[in-house]
Amino acid sequence: MDLGISGKVALVTGGSAGIGLAAAKSLAREGCDVCVCARDPERLADAVVELQEFGKVVHAVLADVEDPSAARRVAEETRDVLGPVDILVANAGGPPAGRFDEVGLDDWDVAVQRNLLGTVRLIHAVLPEMRSRGWGRIVTITSRSVREAIDGLVLSNATRSAVAGVVRTLAREVGGDGVLVNNVLPGPIETERLRRLMGDEEALRGRGEEVPVGRVGRAEEVGDVVAFLASERASFVNGVSLLVDGGESRVIA
Ligand code: NAD
Repeated sequence: MDLGISGKVALVTGGSAGIGLAAAKSLAREGCDVCVCARDPERLADAVVELQEFGKVVHAVLADVEDPSAARRVAEETRDVLGPVDILVANAGGPPAGRFDEVGLDDWDVAVQRNLLGTVRLIHAVLPEMRSRGWGRIVTITSRSVREAIDGLVLSNATRSAVAGVVRTLAREVGGDGVLVNNVLPGPIETERLRRLMGDEEALRGRGEEVPVGRVGRAEEVGDVVAFLASERASFVNGVSLLVDGGESRVIA
C-alpha cells in the first residue's frame, strides 16, 4: 500500500531513540523529509545518520520539549530547512514513575510540562499552518495508561489521559480543515526505557510472556502504526486513541 505521504514534511520530537526514532524511520521510508528533535546531541547525531539511509532530507534540532520556547523554535527551524510541518509526531520521554505518595509536586510539574504542555505547545506551533494549507496529521504518543490505570504510574495515568482529551476534542474542531489528530497507546515496547525499567533480559522475556502474542513489541511496530495514522490512507481516522499492545489490554472498546 502506498501511504501517499511522499514529499511531506514530518517533525518527530523525542526522535533520537526508541519509538520516536522508529516513527521517524517509518515516515522517511515512506518518502517524508524528517526533522527530529531530542536533548542529547550525540544520540541525535547518530539518529541523523540512521535516517539518512532512506535518502530523504533529514534535519535535527537539539531541544527539550519541557522548555516553553522549544516548540516554536523547533517548528520554525523545521519550516526554514524543510518547509512547513505537514506531520507532527508529539513524543518525549515518560513522566517520573511512582505512586501518589511517592511523587512530589516537582515531579507533577515535570510530568505536566513534558507530557501535557510539551504536546500542547507543539500542536500550537504547527496547527495554524496545517489548517491554512488544508492538510495535516498530528499523532501523539502516550500510553496504555489512557485506557486502564497502571499501578505505580500516577503521573502517566493523569497526564496521558489529559493528552487523550486534547486529541479527542481537537480532532472534532479541526477535522473539517483537513487536519486529523490521533493518539497511539503503546503497550510494552522493547526500547531503552523498557530495558531500563525491566533491569535484565530475563525480566524482559517474562514481561513478554504476559502479553497475548507472547513477547514485548518492537519499536518499529509502533513506528509503522504512526506512519499509517499520519498517512493519506488513514483519511477517515480521526480522534482515536489506538492501542498497540499485542492484545494485552482487557478493555473492550
Ligand atoms: P526512550 O526513552 O527509549 O526514548 C525517548 C526519546 O525521547 C529519546 O529520543 C529521548 O532523547 C527523547 N526525549 C526524552 N525526553 C525528552 C524531552 N524532554 N525533550 C525532547 N526529547 C526528549 O522512550 P520510548 O520507550 O521510545 O518511549 C517513548 C514514549 O512512549 C514515552 O513517553 C514513553 O513513556 C511512552 N511509552 C513507552 C512504552 C514502552 O514500553 N517503551 C510503553 C508505553 C508508553
